[in-house]
Amino acid sequence: MIWPHEDTPALNTFYGDPRGTNGQASAAWQAENLVQWVTPYPMFYSDGKHTPMEHLHVHKKCLSTFHDAFTDVLQTMGIDKIRQLRLDVTGGTFCFRPERGGSRLSVHSWGCAIDMDPGHNPFPHVWEPGRGMIDPQFASILQKHGFCWRGAHNDVDPMHFQLCQH
Ligand SMILES: [Zn+2]
Repeated sequence: MIWPHEDTPALNTFYGDPRGTNGQASAAWQAENLVQWVTPYPMFYSDGKHTPMEHLHVHKKCLSTFHDAFTDVLQTMGIDKIRQLRLDVTGGTFCFRPERGGSRLSVHSWGCAIDMDPGHNPFPHVWEPGRGMIDPQFASILQKHGFCWRGAHNDVDPMHFQLCQH
């Protein structure tokens, strides 16, 4: 799969235009494009209460890549390491909202991104080793499956993985 660039026109062309009226997501776009992803291992919301996520909403074009990547994480790293490294804690996938500090839509608005362990990977912050931030093996598995990690190359959003190009 060749993922689109992260600019709004390219995302709209590839994933459809999620904008509805009054600054809300289009209900028709959501119904047509978002699907429920039942994660290959139990995930918890990063709300401080460890709320279980029954499923996450992702764009239908991203479903198999999300599933393959996280199945690879489970098979490669195992559930004990996943829990120890908080790779089962997520800030979520689809969320219709402006980009932080900007007027463009966040790429989360297209359902093609996921935030992992935001509590230990705050924005804006460069990834550093030895701080309990995103595990490098986890990042490389997701990258192998096509995700762009916004913690690479001294970028400042280490929690964030997206299926579009930066
Ligand atoms: Zn994000």
